[in-house]
Amino acid sequence: MSLKISAILVLVILSTNFANGKVLQILHTNDLHSFWEHGFDKSKGGYARLKAMMDSLEAEGDSKGWVTIRLDAGDFSEGSLDFFAGNGSYSYRLAKMLNYDVVALGNHEFVMGLNALAAHAKIPEERIPLVASNFESPVDINLKPGRIIYRSGLKIAVVGATTDEKEYRWGALPALITAPMAPVQHWLGEQNADINIALSHLGLDADINLVRESKFIDLVIGGHTHDALEEPVYGLDPDKNIVPIVQAGSHAEYLGRIVVELPQKGSLLLKSYELLPMSHELPEDQTIKDEVNRGKKELNALFLPLKLDHVIGEITQDYVIADPKLTPLACYVANTLREAVQADAALDLGELYGKGLAQGKVTVGDILNLQPHRYDFETKGWTIYTCKYTGSTLRSLVNLAFRKAENAILLSGIAHKNVIGLRIDGNRIVDSKIYKVAFSEGVVKAARHQFYVNKFFPNSCIDTKIVIKDVILQKIMSETDFNYRLDRCLQDRAL
Ligand SMILES: [Zn+2]
Repeated sequence: MSLKISAILVLVILSTNFANGKVLQILHTNDLHSFWEHGFDKSKGGYARLKAMMDSLEAEGDSKGWVTIRLDAGDFSEGSLDFFAGNGSYSYRLAKMLNYDVVALGNHEFVMGLNALAAHAKIPEERIPLVASNFESPVDINLKPGRIIYRSGLKIAVVGATTDEKEYRWGALPALITAPMAPVQHWLGEQNADINIALSHLGLDADINLVRESKFIDLVIGGHTHDALEEPVYGLDPDKNIVPIVQAGSHAEYLGRIVVELPQKGSLLLKSYELLPMSHELPEDQTIKDEVNRGKKELNALFLPLKLDHVIGEITQDYVIADPKLTPLACYVANTLREAVQADAALDLGELYGKGLAQGKVTVGDILNLQPHRYDFETKGWTIYTCKYTGSTLRSLVNLAFRKAENAILLSGIAHKNVIGLRIDGNRIVDSKIYKVAFSEGVVKAARHQFYVNKFFPNSCIDTKIVIKDVILQKIMSETDFNYRLDRCLQDRAL
């Protein structure tokens, strides 16, 4: 568990190199993932509300003589259906229109490849001021290790860090991603700024490590793990300074606001920190709203004859998918993959499917949003792969999956109490028998770049070209009672 310190301690000395009596207001977001209109919670979010709120807080700051900056900690692009509009150009343009001073490079930015990033960087309206000090790109993607903001006599250093987790690193090839500690410390050490901010797409636990192992950081604005932190988490740096770490949820459901004072003499003070819910009663910025509407029109045209806002049914509770336990929706999705290719079993990862479905009306768009991923703009999402294994190999793979995967594993057809008791369709696995297993394209491609698991995904695995979100949609639309189906999935599934 991370180090949490009570509100009283918030006013303690955080560091000791400030001397100009200014107040700095930092407005921050992370992991927007192109959820332009609302998040998982449909009563929250929307870029137009975010913009209106940032403008109003900046005006309030101006009236008090504060300096205001806007930061995003990465993953503003790929990750929802809306990103498909205009091959990503709407999402880049909208991020630009939110007027961020600096944006961290997230893994969902580089999952589309360097060429896509480079193409956006060439268009002035889509050129985002990206930072990541641990990312070396051979092509120009408008990326810098960090950026300096000079404002009202303040020198503000913002250094970037992006996730170096193995499962994402390959997506950036031929760019090189290294461990963030040394490059962050090196860059900040050269700036001699009034305040040093790490804008991090590393995730909360990795942020605590970053602070512990890198000098000069005064504050971390984080992302990647979608944590809605109501209070800062505090890390300790190598010189035993207390460093606040904040993060603002995901999908524009919240705006983070942190206000720090840089006194004439002495130390940085944390004046306030709050997470503002972007509830739907809030005013909207008209320019952003117009651009979102244009993007939505283009998106709708892209999916015709499907109607994205067509209501398929109503569900009476939230159905999550990325839960470590096998949930009804995870079960349903895994069964669908398995059935679509007549495999003996299906094995996938819950974290690849977003959060799930929220209680209330469910639209075609909501279903397609369960699995919106793509690696390029040619295909409309990930496809189903199948691999064949002997019973004994399958046993090793399932065992490895349960030991290594940190998130929910979606299983269909496989009952797993322990490796010895592994069953397929209720029958004990036969070591010499051949079994066909279904996976998502994302699992296969990522696994092929990881040495401990790549041997399970040889070239003989087949891309069936069946698009996952299409089969999930077809299946759900054919149900007479969607609620009932989801509720029954875990009870019914063949074990
Ligand atoms: Zn991320």
